[in-house]
Amino acid sequence: MGMLVGKKGIIFGVANDHSLAWYCAKALHEEGAELAFTYQGEALERRVRPLADSVGSKFIEQCDLSNDEAIDKIFTELKKQWATIDFVIHAVAFANKQDLEGHFVDTTRDGFKLAMDVSAYTLTAVAKRASEMMNGDGGSIVTLTYYGAEKVVPHYNVMGVAKAALEASVRYLAADLGDKNIRVNAISAGPVRTLAAMGIAGFRDMLKVVEAKAPLKRNIQAEEVGKTALYFVSNMSSGVTGEIIHADCGYSILGM
Ligand code: NAD
Repeated sequence: MGMLVGKKGIIFGVANDHSLAWYCAKALHEEGAELAFTYQGEALERRVRPLADSVGSKFIEQCDLSNDEAIDKIFTELKKQWATIDFVIHAVAFANKQDLEGHFVDTTRDGFKLAMDVSAYTLTAVAKRASEMMNGDGGSIVTLTYYGAEKVVPHYNVMGVAKAALEASVRYLAADLGDKNIRVNAISAGPVRTLAAMGIAGFRDMLKVVEAKAPLKRNIQAEEVGKTALYFVSNMSSGVTGEIIHADCGYSILGM
């Protein structure tokens, strides 16, 4: 029997079948979890709906996470369908393209606010509402981050600053929600070719550098990010919270 039979959760961040959120969804579905999905805007519906259908999802709704009313609406709808949930996958980030090339010092106030709002604050906004639906058995909230939060990675710029805020949010949320047995963790994934990643200037070079230097001498596979999400959602990580796991073929351990 699957590890997640009887567990229900919502996935934020599927844009297409390359999305890390989709690989997390597949890994959770294979272990028996029931899934709800949101997509950011109408244009993505035609990609996300067939994927959600393929894993038997009955809940597929639009939600722009930069809008609090839209988030409230999703959780109100979700409550009608399921009284409680067990997990959340938050795999959402955005920064203006011009802020993901050139120099961090050129970031505008608006660009900074936008990246912070969508890529960091939305985890807190979602955790607040989700935690109110995690009654009894507790729950697991998982987000996606990147090494650019810890060290300077060329062109990652304002997204690195937003990911640092996201990682700190993981720790504060873990501390706040621990007494309800809600665990909050992050996967720091190595580079994977996705829609969001291709918006970072020089992304292909990042893949080449990791392949050449990482201890495992290759890039991470999206399926491996999915398996790490399964670890965090399942009982296998029952004593782990506030943690950032690097699923990056070891690249982040290198000093030089
Ligand atoms: P992706 O483009 O497939 O997913 C990003 C998602 O964010 C999209 O579904 C997009 O619709 C959503 N999004 C952006 N703004 C939103 C908003 N206002 N409201 C709702 N949704 C919004 O790319 P991905 O690489 O799968 O990204 C998922 C997560 O993984 C992101 O947090 C990203 O930073 C992180 N990550 C990616 C990599 C990588 O190399 N691909 C590495 C480490 C971490």
